[in-house]
Amino acid sequence: MLVLVINCGSSSVKYNLIETEGESEVCSGIVERIGAVTSIVKHQPAEGDYLKDTKVISNHSEALLEIMNYLLSPESSLISSPSDIKAVGHRVVHGGEMFKDSVLIDNVVKDAIEQAFDLAPLHNPPNLKGIQAAEERLPDVPHVAVFDTAFHHSLPAYAYLYGIPNRLYRRHKIRRYGFHGTSHYFVSRQYYKLTDKHKKDTKVITCHLGNGASIAAIRGGDSVDTSMGFTPLSGMVMGTRSGDLDPSILFYIVEKEELPLNSLHAMLNRHSGLLGLSGYASDMRDLIAEANNGDRRCQQAIDVFCYNIKKYVGSYIATLNGCDAILFTAGIGENSALIRKKSMENLDILGIEIDDERNENVKPGRIEKISSDSSRTDIYVVPTNEELVIAIDAAKIASASDQSPWV
Ligand code: AMP
Repeated sequence: MLVLVINCGSSSVKYNLIETEGESEVCSGIVERIGAVTSIVKHQPAEGDYLKDTKVISNHSEALLEIMNYLLSPESSLISSPSDIKAVGHRVVHGGEMFKDSVLIDNVVKDAIEQAFDLAPLHNPPNLKGIQAAEERLPDVPHVAVFDTAFHHSLPAYAYLYGIPNRLYRRHKIRRYGFHGTSHYFVSRQYYKLTDKHKKDTKVITCHLGNGASIAAIRGGDSVDTSMGFTPLSGMVMGTRSGDLDPSILFYIVEKEELPLNSLHAMLNRHSGLLGLSGYASDMRDLIAEANNGDRRCQQAIDVFCYNIKKYVGSYIATLNGCDAILFTAGIGENSALIRKKSMENLDILGIEIDDERNENVKPGRIEKISSDSSRTDIYVVPTNEELVIAIDAAKIASASDQSPWV
């Protein structure tokens, strides 16, 4: 089934056209800087030339029109009619407590996504705009919402409740939700498939290490704990996000720096993490290059990042009472042998041992085992594919089939 996957930010629309039977991508692209003087449009067909252009695109509806026009154009010849697309899968960041699974979008679902605006003010409003714009362009096709939070719905209360007055949970739903659910789900299923392990008997820790980073403990196929919380700001130190803090620090900063409370949002989300620590960059490649040139603060940022991984992995081994596999994914997890090695150093007491040669020789885009033969815990690099999860869920729901293609 041909499925269009849409991921909308406040000024961008990313898309992937995916043929779900062969799990193959037909085309991908992005419209960026929507609403700016000029917007940037990029299309990358699987077979054919990369196309980059600048245009005036003032809203998400025009961005969707631009994408559809390209897919239908004689030069791309990717589809001959909008009806070739059989479903649209939408990435929606926050499903609140309501959505435990992907769902066919109707007015009730759109209202519920809107009700979760307060929980994810940066993400859910553009996600809903994207849904409305895509419905306008493809009115006769089923639209499906796939939530970043859904996979973590299996967290037990003792893992999702914070130590604050319980009425705040009951009144305002303040609790741990967790994010990157489609990625943690996908890489854990790839491991079960690869090793022929039955998910019921398997315990894994998934490390999604990209610009945003989160770690999850998965028992019997279900997420039982994860590092991100009420919002994607908590847990690991990330590219520009702080990760976990002592909450008192916030009051202290406001007082000492004489800052308005609302300026903390930008500081914690955009000026902290690896960027804040290093004072140089949020991008791990830049930090590694500069640390190799002797920059002490870049080295410290890398050290903090790796120590965070080690602490979460250690605590999740306790959560799971052991662990069959640790899976590294996303930009840093898939591509940096250094970060994988450093974060897994000196864990032999827990039966975790990387094989340096395997680790150094991981080929991009491949699932590779990097643990030594004597390691009691498997360690793998597993490329993530969140768009494929969204496409397959959308296809499944659109065809009203109960048959999950996943283990
Ligand atoms: P993502 O958000 O998954 O696209 O990941 C982006 C992050 O992956 C950035 O911090 C990149 O610097 C990092 N990254 C990509 N390739 C490499 C690499 N070869 N070595 C280290 N970090 C990398």
